[in-house]
Amino acid sequence: MICLFLSIFANIFQTGWTGVNERTFLAVKPDGVQRKLVGEIVQRFERKGFKLVGLKLMQASEELLREHYSELRSKPFFSGLIAYMSSGPVVAMVWQGLDVVKTARKMLGETNPADSLPGTIRGDYCVEVGRNVIHGSDSVASAQREISLWFRQNELLCWEDNCSHWIYN
Ligand code: UDP
Ligand code: MG
Repeated sequence: MICLFLSIFANIFQTGWTGVNERTFLAVKPDGVQRKLVGEIVQRFERKGFKLVGLKLMQASEELLREHYSELRSKPFFSGLIAYMSSGPVVAMVWQGLDVVKTARKMLGETNPADSLPGTIRGDYCVEVGRNVIHGSDSVASAQREISLWFRQNELLCWEDNCSHWIYN
């Protein structure tokens, strides 16, 4: 009940979640799904200690992708990016935890896999910028925008993580 109230409040006032309730939007891209990396990627965020609050396999429409990447619409790679992202199913996810936006970006690596350190997802599993297997929100504000674009409120679950006191003190 408290969770429901807080989520409605957060939605209406666009405050988002803060502290351990911060949320980010991640998506395994079509190449990640084709290459059977979904389990490996989910496992990294689970093992880190973040909490999964939303997940779905979906074929993203071009309309959704154009909106998602609207800041990049003038870039030369934009049409190729939309074609790539709509070439097959993606796994859209919302993860929650302390500093999850920034930490998830570190776990992803750099935009270009060639600049990504081993140990990061892009450093370990891909080679080219145009096939970099995963998306992650770049700020709390972007995360809020992307979560509300990809998920309905009732697709995000508020559940008690029985491990949380082993992750946070
Ligand atoms: N991208 C590309 N060529 C480029 C830069 C970006 O194909 O030169 C693609 C790549 O898939 C990247 C996405 O566009 O992940 C979004 O770009 P952004 O700069 O937002 O990188 P990200 O936030 O994904 O690291
Ligand atoms: Mg980006």
